[in-house]
Amino acid sequence: MEIDLSKLDIKKAHEHLVNGDFTAVELAEVCLKNVKEKNEDINAYLEIYDDVLEQAKKADERIKNKDNVTELTGIPIALKDNILNEGRAVSAGSKILENYKGTYDATVVKKLKDAGVVFIGRTNMDEFAMGSSTENSAYGVTKNPIDLTRVSGGSSGGSSAIVSMNGALVSLGSDTGGSVRQPASFCGVVGLKPTYGAVSRYGLIAMGSSLDQIGPFGKSVSDAEILFDVIKGYDKLDSTSLPDVLQSKDEVKDLLAGRQGKLTIGIPTHLFADGVDKDVLENFNQSVEKIKSLGYEVKDIELPNTKYSLAVYYVLMPAEASSNLSRFDGVKYGLRKEGENLLGDYLETREVGFGEEVKRRIMLGTHVLSSGYYDAYYNKANIVRELIKSDFDKAFDPKAIGVDAILTPTTPTPAFKIGEKKDPLSMYLLDIFTAPANITGIPAISIPSGTVEREGKDLPVGLQIMANHGREDIIFSIGRSMSI
Ligand code: GLN
Repeated sequence: MEIDLSKLDIKKAHEHLVNGDFTAVELAEVCLKNVKEKNEDINAYLEIYDDVLEQAKKADERIKNKDNVTELTGIPIALKDNILNEGRAVSAGSKILENYKGTYDATVVKKLKDAGVVFIGRTNMDEFAMGSSTENSAYGVTKNPIDLTRVSGGSSGGSSAIVSMNGALVSLGSDTGGSVRQPASFCGVVGLKPTYGAVSRYGLIAMGSSLDQIGPFGKSVSDAEILFDVIKGYDKLDSTSLPDVLQSKDEVKDLLAGRQGKLTIGIPTHLFADGVDKDVLENFNQSVEKIKSLGYEVKDIELPNTKYSLAVYYVLMPAEASSNLSRFDGVKYGLRKEGENLLGDYLETREVGFGEEVKRRIMLGTHVLSSGYYDAYYNKANIVRELIKSDFDKAFDPKAIGVDAILTPTTPTPAFKIGEKKDPLSMYLLDIFTAPANITGIPAISIPSGTVEREGKDLPVGLQIMANHGREDIIFSIGRSMSI
């Protein structure tokens, strides 16, 4: 059987694998062929593993022997370069970890291995996940497969491009302020940021620990859901991991049964007052019309403090990152450069090992945490964080505003040109719709919502759906009905 990856999702691939229409080896070979043709140009993979076919052979044996076969057995997947996979290189897109190898499996990797996936390789990213375009990677930009003159988004730009160019069926990324959803929207794929604490962060190279979540990319909402179901769950190795209060699938079905189309959707129109591209806004308004036509109730809502999200994010994230990155000192991990004395070693290693954006954020973060400025910036940001949380609590509270979900565009613009954004602030502004979900910890997904034309090319645009803590079920349900 001819394998066309662009027409496959996990469910279909799984059916074909168990029916014997094709093998996991054949499926992996198609990925490798696509990668060979396209990766040199696109630069989505930093490394293709050399044992892909062996992994696939093992999956085939498992399928042949009906030995603990899961929906993911034999499914080709790519991993962002900041998720540890034992014995394999992992660099977080940085020179400072150029020759570093994972010393253990991240919990998500362990779960995927148990499920029998085939890891194709590790994907490019902005250095330490700081950025929105992968231009901050120490290993070159990842081009957008739909228009090679544009960025694929970031920081998980490699993972979104891989799914878009069929270099794997699905992938994992990480999202601290939008790094799964924004590249998903730029590349025309689905990307989910789960509820904070739903997926273990054990083995994820930390950036902003109170904001980071690992999330799946796929071509369909159902792929994101299947992957989420496998990687989620309480993990005692992550102290911020949530207990398993997320309902089982059947309970969720009961909960939503009969309510499909009766859910209420909030639209914070006031947030789109300025800065959103005219075509993106028009595309969003079409999505709102569509959701109304599906029978959902739509109402305009106010999130009065949410306009401060970027200010809060760009204080908290650098603060947490500057402290997380202090471990890269040339002694414990990766690159080591000799200076005149111990302090010299630190300075030299970090000078050579870190790129410009990482240094900028370390300086910003160290500044906002320094005595004298701590109250003015870091504490203030935490107070405003609580206010933003209360905006969303009220929105979801049935006794207050009482919506089931909130819609926004995922990003204010479609993918921009490589090299276009020279000023870091203009890049930071792109996170305006995605950062609130990280600040509050709620789940959010980006699904493709159509295209806008730029220079004769149809560039994908994403629709973001947010719901209350632990309510990924609502997101998937709306996402599925919108994708039809
Ligand atoms: N673009 C945001 C930043 O640069 C988000 C990054 C992320 O989610 N990892 O911080």
